[in-house]
Amino acid sequence: MSIEGNLNRIKEKLGKSTKLVAISKTKTLAQVMECYNAGQRIFGENKVQELVAKFEALPKDIEWHLVGHLQGNKVKFVAPFVSLIHSVDSLKLLQEINKQGEKCHRVISCLLQIYIAVEETKFGLDEEEAFSLLESEAFKQLKNIRIMGVMGMATNTDHQEQIQSEFRKLKQFSEKLIHTFASGLHPFSQISMGMSNDYEIAIQEGSTLIRVGSSIFGER
Ligand SMILES: *Cc1c(COP(=O)(O)O)cnc(C)c1O
Repeated sequence: MSIEGNLNRIKEKLGKSTKLVAISKTKTLAQVMECYNAGQRIFGENKVQELVAKFEALPKDIEWHLVGHLQGNKVKFVAPFVSLIHSVDSLKLLQEINKQGEKCHRVISCLLQIYIAVEETKFGLDEEEAFSLLESEAFKQLKNIRIMGVMGMATNTDHQEQIQSEFRKLKQFSEKLIHTFASGLHPFSQISMGMSNDYEIAIQEGSTLIRVGSSIFGER
C-alpha cells in the first residue's frame, strides 16, 4: 500500500485523544514529503544527526520529536527546534536539556522514559527512580524544561496479554504521577506508547501518542 493509504488506515484507528507521531528514521526526504503531503505534520526520529538534517531540509510547520536515546553532548543540536523529547532517562540529561533550553530561550517539552518491558536492554527509569527524580531539589530548579508525561516501550513479543499488561502498568503509573506531581508547569498528561506491532493495544490502553514507523513507510 502507499504511504498515504497506510497513514489513513492508521489515522482511522486513532481516538479523539491519541495523536500519531510518524517515525521517519532511515527514510528519505522524498518519503517524508509524501507523508507530509498526505497531511501528516508530526514526525519523529531516533538519531540527533538525522533529526537535524531533516529539520533543516523540510517544511518548517513540521513538529519534530526525538524518540531515541539522547546523549548529553548532543542536546545542543536539537534544543533550538525540537517539539518533544520522548526519551529522558536521567536527571543529568534533564539538566543538560534545561541548560540548552535556557541558552535558546525555550522551555523544552520532555517525557520521562519509563522502563516497562521484561527485556534488559531497553533504556528508561523505573518507577522509584522517576519518583526520586521528580522529588529532588535539583529537579525543582529547572525552569526551561516541561515534563509533559511518560513514554514506554513494551516487550517485543507476539504475546498480546504481555504487551497489554505492560501498557496498563504505564497508564497506572502515569495516573500516579499526575496525582502526585501534575501542575501547570508539568501537566504529565501525555502517554507515549505503541509502535507498528502494538499501537492498537496501546490506543485501547490509553496512549495519547503512538510512534509508528514501518506500518506507514514500510520495513526498514
Ligand atoms: C523506530 C522506533 C519506533 C517505530 O517503530 P516501528 O516498529 O517501525 O513502528 C517507535 N519508537 C521508537 C523509540 C523507535 O526507535
